[in-house]
Amino acid sequence: TSQDSKPALTLLLAAPRGFCAGVDRAIKIVEMALEKWGAPVYVRHEIVHNKFVVDGLKAKGAIFVEELEDCPDDRPVIFSAHGVPKTVPAEADRRNMVYVDATCPLVSKVHIEAQRHAEAGLQMIMIGHKGHPETVGTMGQLPEGEVLLVETAEDVATVPVRDPNRIAYVTQTTLSVDDTKGIVAALHAKFPTIVGPHKEDICYATTNRQEAVKAIAPWADAILVVGAPNSSNSRRLVEVGAKAGCNYAQLVQRAENIDWRALDGITSIGITAGASAPEVLINEVIDAFRARYEVTVEMVETAVESVEFKVPRVLRTPT
Ligand code: SF4
Repeated sequence: TSQDSKPALTLLLAAPRGFCAGVDRAIKIVEMALEKWGAPVYVRHEIVHNKFVVDGLKAKGAIFVEELEDCPDDRPVIFSAHGVPKTVPAEADRRNMVYVDATCPLVSKVHIEAQRHAEAGLQMIMIGHKGHPETVGTMGQLPEGEVLLVETAEDVATVPVRDPNRIAYVTQTTLSVDDTKGIVAALHAKFPTIVGPHKEDICYATTNRQEAVKAIAPWADAILVVGAPNSSNSRRLVEVGAKAGCNYAQLVQRAENIDWRALDGITSIGITAGASAPEVLINEVIDAFRARYEVTVEMVETAVESVEFKVPRVLRTPT
């Protein structure tokens, strides 16, 4: 078909989208560890929640495992960006392993908060998603059973605190900003003296990506979020887009996952990507639209990011 026969499509491209500073750093850590120590380097859990990224690092010699017990003593191991319970580095120390912690500094900050509150004698509540590695890691900064998990505002009613006057809370970094406000309000209503972070612990990248998708949602016939099904912040982008007024919001890992039949008749599409989705996959999705439509790209920029994190010193110094 000639170009003229393609239907017109306005593609609203969210900015910021995709990689955040913590993801960028975590991937760099694996790459630099492979350069420094050679293959194989072990990685405990997906370094970031993206299959494409993980496959790329596997090809360079990284071996991904779920538990430390699946790693040999004599190869370096890297802990993923989501953070790990205290028992993990303790076990690595016990086995005299070389390890590099790729936990995002913004997650480590939450770990420190939780410990600080516990040392001050406050019982900790964590707002997060049960079983997500970040939640497991943050709760694992304190002894088993010490941190109480709250997933919804409804959970607040039944949370079994020891002393309602001596509690504090922390949150997962990738939650929905709006949903979390509701949960925090419920906590404050039930426990007026509860201590918490100034805002929430939701990170700048999560906040900015949600703001951008909100700005797009009212103008887009459909929204696609490039990201993985196990990526918390990507899934939140789908929900935030839908809540902000877009009737069709879907997660796609790659262009091949686009349901073209569902998009039949659209004249505008919003595109964003979770913090662990690489730009090549976003471009792949945009190119798939260009192949079918006469695309006009309009960037919707709601924030400019300049956050960067250094890799750990061990990787910055020669062997
Ligand atoms: Fe760090 Fe936020 Fe990125 Fe998670 S989403 S790695 S907390 S910057």
